[in-house]
Amino acid sequence: MPTLQDSLRDRLGPAGVLSDPADLAPYLRGPLRVEGRCALVARPSTVEEVAAVVALAAEHGCPVVPQGGNTGLCDGAIPDDPRAVLLHLGRMNRIRAIDPLSYTMTAEAGVILAHAQAAAAEADLLFPLSLGAEGSCQIGGNLATNAGGRSVLRYGSARDLVLGLEVVLPDGRIWNGLRALRKDNTGLDLKQMFLGSEGTLGVITAALLTLEPRVADRACAFVAVADPLAALRLLDRLRRRSGDAVSSFEIMNAYSMAVAVRHLPGALYPLSSPTPWSVLVELSSSRAGGDLSALLTEALAEAMDDGLVADATLAQNEAQAAAFWKLRDEGATLYWKEGGLLLHDPSVPLARVPDFIARVEREVALAVPGARVAAFGHIGDGNIHICVSQPEGADKRGFLARKAEVQGLVYGAAVALGGSFSAEHGIGRTKIDALARYRAPVELGLMATLKQALDPAGIMNPGKVLPAPPPQAPAPQALPPALTAPVLTAPVPTVVTAAS
Ligand SMILES: Cc1cc2nc3c(=O)[nH]c(=O)nc-3n(C[C@H](O)[C@H](O)[C@H](O)COP(=O)(O)OP(=O)(O)OC[C@H]3O[C@@H](n4cnc5c(N)ncnc54)[C@H](O)[C@@H]3O)c2cc1C
Repeated sequence: MPTLQDSLRDRLGPAGVLSDPADLAPYLRGPLRVEGRCALVARPSTVEEVAAVVALAAEHGCPVVPQGGNTGLCDGAIPDDPRAVLLHLGRMNRIRAIDPLSYTMTAEAGVILAHAQAAAAEADLLFPLSLGAEGSCQIGGNLATNAGGRSVLRYGSARDLVLGLEVVLPDGRIWNGLRALRKDNTGLDLKQMFLGSEGTLGVITAALLTLEPRVADRACAFVAVADPLAALRLLDRLRRRSGDAVSSFEIMNAYSMAVAVRHLPGALYPLSSPTPWSVLVELSSSRAGGDLSALLTEALAEAMDDGLVADATLAQNEAQAAAFWKLRDEGATLYWKEGGLLLHDPSVPLARVPDFIARVEREVALAVPGARVAAFGHIGDGNIHICVSQPEGADKRGFLARKAEVQGLVYGAAVALGGSFSAEHGIGRTKIDALARYRAPVELGLMATLKQALDPAGIMNPGKVLPAPPPQAPAPQALPPALTAPVLTAPVPTVVTAAS
C-alpha cells in the first residue's frame, strides 16, 4: 500500500504537500506560541482535493487538522500528533461569485477576510465582519470559530452572516449546501453544526455570505467615561439618538490604554490626559450626507452636559479614526511586553458588565496583589476581554503557575452572572477543561453524540473542543475514494458575478 504522503503527492502534486521540517515550522506555531507536531501539510486547491485529503487520511487512520490563517487564540489549528495531516486552506482562495441583487458573496474557505471585505467594497457592498486579525485570518477559520469582532452589535457574529456552506465531511463526502436563501425551513439547519465547531465535524470549503449596503457615512470618537455603567448608558443613548447607527462600541480601562501608549511606537493618548475608562465609538450608515459627525458631536456634547461623558474627541478624518482603532486593536496584542500574561474572553449580559468587571478586579487583587488587570473589548456585546499581567517585578513563572486559580476567578464570575467563559475565541485545546466544568452534562453529551455520529473514527481535529476519544485501529478501504464519493448537492443558485 502506498504511504499517505505518496498518495497525497499523487493527488495534489508537489506544491500541494509539504513535509520538510523547515517548511512545516511556520504552520506549527500560532499566536499562543505553543509548538505543534504533524506529519505533513496538505495544501489542496479545490473542494475535490480537500475531499481526497480527508478520505486518504481517514483510510490511513491519520488525524486531519484544518488550518486557515492560524490566528486563532485557542490553538485549535495546531496539531499535536506526529501522524497528523495539517490541512491548510490557503490555496482555496477564490471568490466564486458576488450577486449584488441578492446581497450575497460565495467565497472559498481560504479567502483572507480583508480580501473578502475588499471584494464586497468593489461591488459597492459591505461584508461587515471585521476584526484585528483580518489581514491574515480566513473565511473558513472565521466561520469555524464563529468569530465576533468589531461590529457584532450591529450585524451579528460570523454565524449570522452565512446563508449556506460547502463542507467536506469526515468520511470524504462533499455536502454542497450553498443555497442563497434567506428563508428555508426544510428540516434541520445543518450548516449550524459546522459554524463554530472549530474543524471537529468537517472542513468548511466555501460559504455563501450575506452582504450589506456599503457604508457611505461614518463618524468615530474617543470618549472618556467614569465607569462601565456610564459606558452602557452612553451606548443606549447613542443607539436611540442615531437611529441605531452605532456599529462599534469598544471599551478600554486605564491599564489597557497605558500599555497601548507605552508600547505602540508614536502612540499618544487621544484625550488631554489618561482617563479611568475610554470608549471607542463608531457610527455608520449607508445613507450619504446624513452628517453622522455632526450628530455624534451633538450627542456627545449633550452627554457631557448631563455628566455621562467626561471628555471626547472626534476623528477628523480616516487616518485619525485608524489611529484610534490602532490603539484598541494593536494595543491588545502587546500585554506580553509587561511579562507573564493570562488571557480570558468571557461575556455576560450587557446589564451585568459593571458588576462583572468590579468583581473580577476585586477578586484578582485579593488573590494576586499587584496583578494588573486589562479589561477591554466589545462592551456593546457584553464581551469583555480580561488580560491579567503579573505584578511588576514579580517572578513570571510563579505568576503563570497560578493560571488555573486566576482563570477560575474570571470564568467563575462570568458564569455566576449568567455569562459565558468563552465569548468569541472558541475552545480549541486550551479550554477543554473549562468546557467540561461549565457546560451541563446534557450539553456535553449532545456534543459528544454529534461528534460520534459525524466522525465515528475521530479523525477531525481530535483533542480540540471535546476530549480526544481513545485511539482506534485504522479501517483500510472503509471509505470510497474521494473522486467517486457521492456529492450531495443543493440546487445551484443563479448568480451574477462581480465581473458581469
Ligand atoms: C490580533 C488578533 C485579533 C483578534 N481579534 C478577534 C476578534 O475581535 N474577534 C474574534 O472572534 N476573534 C479574534 N481573533 C481570533 C482569530 O482571529 C479568529 O478566531 C479567526 O476567526 C480565526 O481565523 P483563522 O483563519 O486564523 O483560523 P485558524 O486559527 O487557522 O483556525 C481556527 C480554528 O478553526 C478551524 N478551521 C480553520 N479553517 C477551517 C475550515 N476551513 N474548516 C473547518 N475548520 C477550520 C481550525 O482547525 C481551528 O480549530 C483575533 C486574533 C488575533 C491574533
